[in-house]
Amino acid sequence: MYDFDVLVLGSGPSGQKAAIAAAKLDRRVAIVERRNMIGGVCINTGTIPSKTLREAVVYLTGLSQREVYGRDYRVKDDITVADLSARTSHVIGREVEVIRSQLQRNRVRLLVGTGRFFDEHTVSVDDDGGRETKVTAEKIIVAVGTKPARPDTVDFDDRTIIDSDGIINLEHVPNSMIVVGAGVIGIEYASMFAALGTKVTVVERRDRMLEFCDLEIIESLKYHLRDLAVTFRFGETVASVERHPRGAIAMLESGKRIGADTVVFSAGRQGLGSEINLESAGLAADPRGRIEVNENYQTSVDHIYAVGDIIGFPALASTSMEQGRLAAHHACGEPARDMQKLQPIGIYTIPEISFVGRTEDELTEARIPFEVGIARYRELARGQIIGDSYGMLKLLVSPDDGKLLGVHVFGTGATELVHIGQTVMGCNGTVDYLVDAVFNYPTLAESYKVAALDAMNKTRHIHRIAT
Ligand SMILES: Cc1cc2nc3c(=O)[nH]c(=O)nc-3n(C[C@H](O)[C@H](O)[C@H](O)COP(=O)(O)OP(=O)(O)OC[C@H]3O[C@@H](n4cnc5c(N)ncnc54)[C@H](O)[C@@H]3O)c2cc1C
Repeated sequence: MYDFDVLVLGSGPSGQKAAIAAAKLDRRVAIVERRNMIGGVCINTGTIPSKTLREAVVYLTGLSQREVYGRDYRVKDDITVADLSARTSHVIGREVEVIRSQLQRNRVRLLVGTGRFFDEHTVSVDDDGGRETKVTAEKIIVAVGTKPARPDTVDFDDRTIIDSDGIINLEHVPNSMIVVGAGVIGIEYASMFAALGTKVTVVERRDRMLEFCDLEIIESLKYHLRDLAVTFRFGETVASVERHPRGAIAMLESGKRIGADTVVFSAGRQGLGSEINLESAGLAADPRGRIEVNENYQTSVDHIYAVGDIIGFPALASTSMEQGRLAAHHACGEPARDMQKLQPIGIYTIPEISFVGRTEDELTEARIPFEVGIARYRELARGQIIGDSYGMLKLLVSPDDGKLLGVHVFGTGATELVHIGQTVMGCNGTVDYLVDAVFNYPTLAESYKVAALDAMNKTRHIHRIAT
């Protein structure tokens, strides 16, 4: 007899959803989580703080209202870290409360401490005060996530040279910042600080950034960021960083020296699989601390599952939640459908980006023909009302059967709007549905109809020439 039917390690999005799904199936469930980390990286240092910070930045700088009220429009002139962190702490506090209450309502036992495998059915929980308790479970779900990767050559001090977790603890808004790594997290923070007036330099080893996105949209994003005084150094590598009393200097391999108040490393994340004594359960993590699983999220030890960032790509809160639910269902013998292949990507830069399906480059490479339908926010009444002249929605449509192959959105509400396209694609709908649909007016959603008409007119034009 085990102490629990299901034991979950980590209370981030994947662990939480796994625990609650198992509890809903009447299993005796416990979740192990470190002190002050309920909700995981997602709630405490990652998704939620960064998205709340973005909201505070957009509001306080008045950036989204400048097309209406003029370039100098500001809600507050001297934006301090206190202004920004007030909103972040409020949201984190409320989210932690919500999660705690959900776990309680579903009778999930919360075991506070750091869990490590003792054997393949036992986890020892260290409560950080030197007390260790052993708990056993029939099924164990590992959802311990990741931490920022820190290059060994860099001397982080968490003030001048920081990783992405350090951003929310900054004591003041820096005048200048170097962001090393133009991945999603790096670029999101670069755009927020640029909006606050920080002079940002982005250094990226590759020649492009966010290469999995639509190229035209990334060009628009770069244009916007340059307009906010962001400097890009693509194809450059930081060789070393020197810390000085008044800031830091990054030496690039090309010989350039860049000075700034703060250097932020956003150089990927390291899985915590190497810190939970996996060997005692007959498992091992890969060099990046991640754990391999099969399509049911089972590790090579059948009753041990792994979900969320610890299993690698796509490493999003959105997908992690669903992995947690599916793993719990499998562990409890409950039938479940596979995870849907069609997953949206949201990038909360300023302006934001979102897409679902394939890009023009991917389709061209695969030799799949497509027609492009575009709607620009400036041609929509809602775009004028909210003062967003740069936003756009792009549909990639199959000329053969009218099916949507990709939906790409840039500008206000992109991460919400994309779900209309996702739904049409997921239900095998065609561009005709969008052409015929009536949308509320004035809305940004109307962009779907405008883009659909654009694609349809282009296809008709080709047809006319050909006949
Ligand atoms: C700055 C930033 C912005 C992001 N923005 C987005 C976004 O906009 N949208 C999106 O979908 N995703 C975003 N992500 C990614 C998202 O946060 C992660 O994909 C998600 O948090 C992963 O969830 P998880 O369940 O794997 O666990 P995590 O959230 O990583 O949490 C793991 C938990 O396990 C706990 N843990 C670790 N080891 C142990 C142990 N030994 N014992 C007990 N507990 C342990 C940790 O304390 C932690 O609480 C962002 C990430 C970052 C860093």
